[in-house]
Amino acid sequence: MNNLSLYGWNDNLFQLKQASQYKHLFHGRVSAVNKTNYEVIAKTGRLLCELAGNVLYGRSSFELPCTGDWIIFQPFDDNKGIIVDILPRKCTLYRRKSGTLSDTQAIASHVDKAFIIQSLDVNFNVRRIERFMVQIVEENIKPILILTKSDLEFDLHQIDESLRHISTQMPIFFTSILSPETILPLRESVKQGETIVFVGSSGVGKSSLINALCEQTIFLTSEISKSSGKGRHTSTRREMVLMENSGILIDTPGVREFGLASDNPETLADIFDVSDFAGSCRFDNCTHVEEPGCAVVEAVNNGLLEPEIYQSYLKLRKESWYFSASEHEKRKRDKSFARISEEAKWKKKH
Ligand code: GDP
Ligand code: ZN
Repeated sequence: MNNLSLYGWNDNLFQLKQASQYKHLFHGRVSAVNKTNYEVIAKTGRLLCELAGNVLYGRSSFELPCTGDWIIFQPFDDNKGIIVDILPRKCTLYRRKSGTLSDTQAIASHVDKAFIIQSLDVNFNVRRIERFMVQIVEENIKPILILTKSDLEFDLHQIDESLRHISTQMPIFFTSILSPETILPLRESVKQGETIVFVGSSGVGKSSLINALCEQTIFLTSEISKSSGKGRHTSTRREMVLMENSGILIDTPGVREFGLASDNPETLADIFDVSDFAGSCRFDNCTHVEEPGCAVVEAVNNGLLEPEIYQSYLKLRKESWYFSASEHEKRKRDKSFARISEEAKWKKKH
């Protein structure tokens, strides 16, 4: 028997379930999404579930269950079920599929914290950290930066400098799997029942860190197998794991880059620590793009704000604006489509 509160089940979710017409059925949490079915953790154990037709109908692909979703299912056979409802999502990490304007993908839902993982080698990239951070904060998820492989040589001063404009907004941990004392503070920062999603390129040490946090080998790392000498392990990875008496960890397979799926370009200035300057802009609603009397632009010109940071702000802002504009268009289209079909129905009746 699983105690689902260890997997994050709580009173709020219970209340949400009461609002479902299927409240008398069982609930569980999606622990992995396969091509044709879903792995679900329920009170009775692990199940493989399929989606009922009514759940599928009328939903966009990003509204279908993702890892972390709480669902209601009707059991059948041994360890099988049909998903009949999805509890409303909160704190869901989305991204825009690369190469698209507004094709959104849900990565994980009901998430409390996101560990942004980068290694202290060529992988380290402030622009990419900013991008992750913006998307995470948008969803009311708490970002935490984890810089791995701290046993390698790196320039601490340079790293600190490059992170100054975002380091007030998010805790930063340096870890090495070779020094358990660097893992301990991170482990202690995790509370029971808390859900944490890991994001970062493959090879940065996500699996190694998850293993170190759980003090056991749950994920196979991409080390060369010593016994077979056959190169990388290829066994399937579990996406959701429990830390004993602690949180729920969700790994995302090598999400290298996030396209922003953010509908709110205005929050960017808060995330990028430019608010010190923004207070002195001539207009209260200054977007710091091309308004006269913009103190942020002035700070760039006076060398008080690094041009790279400002450029990054502009780039993310533009991306977010495009996303929000095309979302708006889509909604308008959906609405007029709904109106046309309503009218057609009405005409048929009369
Ligand atoms: P993932 O793809 O993000 O899950 O990365 P892995 O956990 O598979 O690690 C990729 C490689 O980096 C492996 O060869 C690990 O042994 C190595 N690695 C992971 N963590 C550390 C670390 O803290 N220090 C060093 N030097 N290497 C590490
Ligand atoms: Zn301004």
